[in-house]
Amino acid sequence: MRGNNILIVDDGKLNRTSFTAILKDEYGVLEAENGEKALEILAKRKNSIVLIILDLIMPVMDGYEFLKVYRSMDEYRYIPVIVSTTNDDAENERRCLELGAWDFIPKTFHPEIIRFRVRNAIEKSKVRLLEYDSLTEIYSQQKFFQMTRELLDNTEDEHFAFIHFDIDRFKMINSFYGAKEGDRLICYVANAIRSVMTEYDPRSTYGRISGDVFGICMPYKELGDIYKVIERIKERIRKHTVHYYLETCSGIYLIEDKEMDVSVIFDNACMAASQCKEKYMVHDAMYTKELSESLKREQEIIDEMDAALEQNQFVVYFQPKYELEGLSPGGAEALVRWQKPDGTLVSPGVFIPIFEKNGFITKLDYYVWEKVCQFIRQELDEGRKPAPISVNVSRVNLYNPKFLDTLIDLVEKYKVPPQYLHLELTESVFSDNASIIQDAVFYLHKAGFTILMDDFGSGYSSLNVLKDVDLDVLKIDMKFFSKGGAADKGAKIIEAVIKMAESLNMTVIAEGVEEPEQVEFLTKLGCDYIQGYYFAKPMPQAQYQELMKKK
Ligand code: C2E
Ligand code: CA
Ligand code: CA
Repeated sequence: MRGNNILIVDDGKLNRTSFTAILKDEYGVLEAENGEKALEILAKRKNSIVLIILDLIMPVMDGYEFLKVYRSMDEYRYIPVIVSTTNDDAENERRCLELGAWDFIPKTFHPEIIRFRVRNAIEKSKVRLLEYDSLTEIYSQQKFFQMTRELLDNTEDEHFAFIHFDIDRFKMINSFYGAKEGDRLICYVANAIRSVMTEYDPRSTYGRISGDVFGICMPYKELGDIYKVIERIKERIRKHTVHYYLETCSGIYLIEDKEMDVSVIFDNACMAASQCKEKYMVHDAMYTKELSESLKREQEIIDEMDAALEQNQFVVYFQPKYELEGLSPGGAEALVRWQKPDGTLVSPGVFIPIFEKNGFITKLDYYVWEKVCQFIRQELDEGRKPAPISVNVSRVNLYNPKFLDTLIDLVEKYKVPPQYLHLELTESVFSDNASIIQDAVFYLHKAGFTILMDDFGSGYSSLNVLKDVDLDVLKIDMKFFSKGGAADKGAKIIEAVIKMAESLNMTVIAEGVEEPEQVEFLTKLGCDYIQGYYFAKPMPQAQYQELMKKK
């Protein structure tokens, strides 16, 4: 804690007493009779000392010697030193200023002047404290941005890069090893950056932005310089501890327009850094226009999604599934599209991955399920026997403890018998957490739903899953296999999968079928259903209704 003490360093007892008398009402006073004593006190109580008043001529260690030591100690940087002089001597003052003294006061003991200068110096030191980050003692964000601005303004013909640098999973380190260790690590990183940058090019600026985030602005000749600097910082940081493995994340922005606002430069480096967070094993990333545009598009989608849902901009299309026996549509898959007010239709490939990341997918999925239930209800009300419709169930739903109840409430609300609603779970869901998924499937079955494994063969399909989890339908994606003749390996695999599904009493649907040869081939193998452009593309509800009526 910062206290409120002034340290008076003077060998004259009378002088010390005079200063004390003037200052004791506003401050605590500590006294030392020479430089050496002063350093001892400083070492013990540096956090409680706000100012030093220093005499120049003293035995043992004089004022100049004291200033030399003081200046070499980074941690005393915030404590102002005022030199007390008997006569004004320009040469002495120059020497003192050079050694880091802040101001002078004459030993005339004019109380008003002394109090005024003391207050002034303490105020100034507080401003300085704001400029430096108190934990790491490198520039705070504000000062760092300001210094970077100056650096960019005052150099010509040179290239600069800005790096957003942070510790990967710093929060984990903080919670596993404690905040103290977290702080130690942050200081270590600051020191590493300081020494690497000073060695590389002392003109470089750097500062702590917040938490474990640092910023660096450096001149460079070739791209390799930047990566070398990052590598050197990493090397140093890794020496910090053997107890845990440290990985860092660097987002690099090459400054093209030196007049660009430093905060915008920093934002661009942040954007680059966000690439490391999203991708496994990526630790450095460079800002590109494409990246910025795709993040911008992503943000636009996020900004618009709530209103879009409210305004029914999401529409459900139906892609029929054709029964190979009899070649007639025997149901459909519900696929969502985003119909913008200007008429453009956005494909789910664009927005689903974003909604899966931010969790909005659960709302959208529910919306689609509800539209499908309404559709089935309408069919039933109009006296038709509807074919089952399958809906996609995104993985996050399965981790929601209320998922099952939500779904049951929904079909009950529209009095839709659950056998009309099929649920598609993508294959990779099953490799997540076996017992959660097994339970979910068990209860969904119990409630009467039919469950499909979607995209079989696309990911880390595990035959174990087929053994342990009771699934009804296997959906094989033909897009994963090369087109053409039945002679290639892909064809043999499909053949084996269909046979296996048959013997497990599972229905097989082939998806993404576009070619007549594929249809012929699948028919021969006894595949049950085909869903693909060959028969029909996803279509609006009315069109699907027409198609089913004709049948
Ligand atoms: P998916 O579940 O594998 O859906 C099949 C995709 O393949 C659909 O793309 C469909 O239009 C397309 N497709 C079908 N037949 C063919 C074909 O013969 N050739 C080609 N090239 N493509 C074919 P779509 O509608 O763009 O949907 C893409 C993905 O978006 C879906 O893949 C699904 O994962 C997701 N998705 C769509 N609607 C929803 C939804 O309501 N909820 C969730 N969670 N995901 C959805
Ligand atoms: Ca699907
Ligand atoms: Ca699929």
